[in-house]
Amino acid sequence: MRISSFLLAFFVWMESPALAQELPIFDTHFHYSSGSWDVFSPDAVLKKMQAAGVMGALVSSTPDEGTQRLLKAAPERIVGGFRPYRKSGDLSRWYQDPELVPYVESRLAQNRHRSFGEIHLYSAENLETPEMARYLKLIVGQGLYIQPHADAAVVRALFTKDPNLKIIWAHAGFSEPPSVIGPMMDRYPNLWADLSYRAGHITGGDGLEPEWRKLRIRHADRFMIGSDTWTVDRLQEYQGLIGEHREWLKYLPPAVTEKIAYKNAMKLFKPKHE
Ligand SMILES: [Zn+2]
Repeated sequence: MRISSFLLAFFVWMESPALAQELPIFDTHFHYSSGSWDVFSPDAVLKKMQAAGVMGALVSSTPDEGTQRLLKAAPERIVGGFRPYRKSGDLSRWYQDPELVPYVESRLAQNRHRSFGEIHLYSAENLETPEMARYLKLIVGQGLYIQPHADAAVVRALFTKDPNLKIIWAHAGFSEPPSVIGPMMDRYPNLWADLSYRAGHITGGDGLEPEWRKLRIRHADRFMIGSDTWTVDRLQEYQGLIGEHREWLKYLPPAVTEKIAYKNAMKLFKPKHE
């Protein structure tokens, strides 16, 4: 039987006596963008992950070079996500910028990525550009996940464009409540979500704690942990960001906790050839 490098890294990690007691986490919303490079080397980033009990991460960066540096340093722990931004200003108009197309196409042609995102989409109209038509074709053709920071209307519009898309909904919609997220998960079997920026809501910050609990149990196969290290400060306080998630994870049934902490992500990012 063939064993994936991810599973292998996981077993090695579990056998490390110092960490064996800690719940492993797979972080599905990690950035290593240019502003962080001078402060944290790839090795320093990996050490921060290890200190936080993070066994693997889906990484995307502005520009893609950051992701490639981490991938090179730890290919068995890092999953490459492709973000079509060369600089942070690209965030607001990437979906309609013809100048980005050659960059996106040449990067994706290298076949080093498993997802397209995190990307920002502000309205369903953003999907109606020739650039987006090209990107969606590439995403489906390469079997990539897409990780949009977008509201529910945009996610619905994406699935209308192509029901075969596999969507990891960044921040589960950021401010969408369980009453919106739940029906979306019921309706779309290809929808997963990372919970970065949602720990406060989950622990009662929006007064919907029981609804969040029901949601995570009902869709235990579709939620994953995320930190969203888009600034140096968030990378600096990484252990605390993961700690916020550990805080609510321990109150769920153990089988649900394990799925959300790392098993769902491991299933999604299993190496393609297996
Ligand atoms: Zn992000």
